[in-house]
Amino acid sequence: VRVLGIESSCDETGVALVQYEATAGPTTAQPAVPQLLAHALYSQIDMHRLYGGVVPELASRDHIRRVLPLTRQVLADAAVSLEQIDVIAFTKGPGLAGALLVGAGVACSLAMALRKPVLGVHHLEGHLLSPFLSADPPQFPFVALLVSGGHTQLMRVEGVGQYELLGETIDDAAGEAFDKSAKLLGLPYPGGPILSRLAEQGNPQAFDLPRPLLKGKNLDFSFAGLKTAVLTQTRKLGQTPEALEPHKADLAASTQAAIVEVLVKKSMLALQHTGLKRLVVAGGVGANRELRRQLNQRCQRAGVRVHYPELHLCTDNGAMIALAAAMRIQAGQQQPDTDYAFDVRPRWPLEQIVTSAQP
Ligand code: ATP
Ligand code: MG
Ligand code: FE
Repeated sequence: VRVLGIESSCDETGVALVQYEATAGPTTAQPAVPQLLAHALYSQIDMHRLYGGVVPELASRDHIRRVLPLTRQVLADAAVSLEQIDVIAFTKGPGLAGALLVGAGVACSLAMALRKPVLGVHHLEGHLLSPFLSADPPQFPFVALLVSGGHTQLMRVEGVGQYELLGETIDDAAGEAFDKSAKLLGLPYPGGPILSRLAEQGNPQAFDLPRPLLKGKNLDFSFAGLKTAVLTQTRKLGQTPEALEPHKADLAASTQAAIVEVLVKKSMLALQHTGLKRLVVAGGVGANRELRRQLNQRCQRAGVRVHYPELHLCTDNGAMIALAAAMRIQAGQQQPDTDYAFDVRPRWPLEQIVTSAQP
């Protein structure tokens, strides 16, 4: 079975093709992980950088320009024809409404023309399952740390579609904290990866930045206070970019240290609470080297196995959407349909897709 996946929730257009062996029906055994045949990605970052952030209308228009050429490229790379696609999956939400509508519209039109069924995928489920495409795929159950540009959540994952929220951010997401702090340091958009590269040359103890909710026993996060603290520090150090320059690397390192410490501490706490011995990290911030270094160290000491997506699949991509659709079908959680009602869900909590456990 071949599934084409289309991602267009924000500022990345992603298309991918996965393939899996069809079985007679849902089995109790965990089916083999679908195989990634090809994927292509176009990032609009250069366009949005001019504005310091994503401009929704420009994002939608650019998705329109990219999605068909990317689809042709994926099919050519995989040496698969349009007719050989069995299911077309698209990101149904959450994300920017106009951007989502492009992917959904294209997916449904293409599927209708080909007389194939479609399946709308939850973007965060895509992130969550993306480590299954890595060389070291996880096994259920596990604790998931989902750290992206718009979300920061810890969940208990029993299987495909069985997600229990353990804790989440009460304000900014971890990726947002990286990006907003980077902006205050005068770094170009999106600042997360750039800040983390700069941090490698700085002293993480140079500035004492807040770590909200660190001591609490619950699994919630709060990052809004951090950007205020970074703002206060930059003001203290001087108003001009020249005055800030000698302290930038130290401030970047200290900011990263604060975010990473909280993420690591709460992940370990979630593992303790659930008694699980497996951690899966997903989402853009999962690419952060310092986060991976500290988690690897702590998990090794605690006898916990930790899994990550491949570096290039941490941020948005089509592969995770095709994968999530394929895994949902394999698990008997959802079947693609031919309604072609391309409704999108710009706001859509992940817990809402949870279905009851299979008998
Ligand atoms: P969501 O998935 O919640 O809708 P999103 O799709 O915008 O949000 P992702 O694409 O998963 O988020 O990730 C983008 C975020 O990851 C950005 O905030 C970016 O700064 C951050 N990020 C990417 N690489 C790194 C890194 N190496 N260190 C820290 N942050 C990073
Ligand atoms: Mg993005
Ligand atoms: Fe994302």
